[in-house]
Amino acid sequence: MVVASQQYFSTRSSDKAISFEEAIMTGLAPDGGLYIPTAIPTLPEDFLTKWANLSFQELAFEILSLYISRQEIPADNLKEIIEKSYSTFRSKDITPTTTLNKDINLHLLELFHGPTYAFKDVALQFVGNLFDFFLTRRNEGKAPTDPSRETITVVGATSGDTGSAAIYGLRNKKNVSVFILFPTGRVSPIQEAQMTSVLDPNIHTISVKGTFDDCQDLVKQVFGDKAFNDKYHVGAVNSINWARILAQITYYFHSFFTLARKIEGGAQALADKINYIVPTGNFGDILAGFYAKQMGLPINKLTVATNSNDILHRFLQSGVYSKSASAEAGPVVHATLSPAMDILVSSNFERYLWYAARTTTDSNEEAGQLVNQWMTDLKATGKFSVSEKVLATARLQFSSERASDEETTATIKKVYTEISPKYILDPHTSVAVFGALNVIEKTDAADHHHVALSTAHPAKFADAVDLALEGQEGYNFENDVLPQEFKELPGREKKNLFADKPDLELIKSIIVDELKKEN
Ligand SMILES: *Cc1c(COP(=O)(O)O)cnc(C)c1O
Repeated sequence: MVVASQQYFSTRSSDKAISFEEAIMTGLAPDGGLYIPTAIPTLPEDFLTKWANLSFQELAFEILSLYISRQEIPADNLKEIIEKSYSTFRSKDITPTTTLNKDINLHLLELFHGPTYAFKDVALQFVGNLFDFFLTRRNEGKAPTDPSRETITVVGATSGDTGSAAIYGLRNKKNVSVFILFPTGRVSPIQEAQMTSVLDPNIHTISVKGTFDDCQDLVKQVFGDKAFNDKYHVGAVNSINWARILAQITYYFHSFFTLARKIEGGAQALADKINYIVPTGNFGDILAGFYAKQMGLPINKLTVATNSNDILHRFLQSGVYSKSASAEAGPVVHATLSPAMDILVSSNFERYLWYAARTTTDSNEEAGQLVNQWMTDLKATGKFSVSEKVLATARLQFSSERASDEETTATIKKVYTEISPKYILDPHTSVAVFGALNVIEKTDAADHHHVALSTAHPAKFADAVDLALEGQEGYNFENDVLPQEFKELPGREKKNLFADKPDLELIKSIIVDELKKEN
């Protein structure tokens, strides 16, 4: 029997279940927790055969239907939202799985064929269309000047990838205005040009004289300003939003079936012999893999691949989740060659922790209390420890690998010269491939397949790629890596606002002025 789960509760209290729409539009739960489905849905018994030849969009429809009730989004509307979301992708497969090396069964799940050339597009294109759908419906029949019209003002900070993916997901959406703050001179020229060349009237970028942390602080202050919030309905699209996780589940199924079609024996032969290695920062990408596995997709193991910001790797070794690698080091974020994974703590790990907690408690309530305790400890002391049983559960689901910057560049080079001649990895993907090579090294099972998730196009991270490949015979960044679209970016018309200091009142006044101009 198929079990669908279409209501949501917080990881910190499970007494109040809310609808999908509410979970998406609220983002963070009032108790500080994250929304999770009240139960993980299961798959049709014959899904391995029934879904074997579905397109990405068809798979998305089947999977999303298990998590969203038809009363909330009728089937035809859901299909439309999915079609629209993935019509912006350059690959007809949306997320193609390619083989890097047949001898070692090493594959890449390419997630960078969306409008901003990064994996966040897969989720944010969908989130933008969901917002549009819900707000349009809430405003049905209201005149343009009706004060009861619902709108949201999305405010976010970015050091690169998230900002551009959010902008491309929300451009031209009705009832949504977007303000993305970035530190002046500290995002790569390509990423800045991607953001500032979007001229839609509802999109605003603010270059803030300060650091990324200043920008993030400002966003937190804007969220914390109740009066401002009540008036302008500030919303977030960061990876705590459940819709982002949900949209990402599809590509695990899609890559499983893509590979199954390629190998002898098909899906039955691949079952329980497929490993996914995921370059991880906030734990959103790999969490979608966890949901796929719990739903019943026969994944053998999920591997967390981190850069030197390795809180998850250390946790899986020790059972201690600590902001600091050592007492002397203190809580520091290291600037690495894979900046989208430079984090101190992983915001979505709380969702996984709830499931781990549930295995050692008798009820949902108790699991929520345990998560609450851990998060309170983390806030107060910078760390928390879990029991042996919780750690054992986590280790059953996940293994982990960690790559230094040297290992990241060495792996880009190794793939280019040996493993898959001329294939160029971006540094985030390289962290995953480094992890995958370690996993392969450690296993005796020659019939296992290893899929590293490829989260960005190499052109977005030119410095790291150049560092790795400079001097290689025949290598030329302009010719081999840079897409035509990026070559045209510098010449395109731009718009951008400036804040000459990281000051809350200044940012608020810029937002208010721009909102007035929009209307
Ligand atoms: C965001 C991002 C990641 C990390 O994904 P999480 O869901 O935060 O773990 C990895 N690579 C790239 C290129 C990204 O933009």
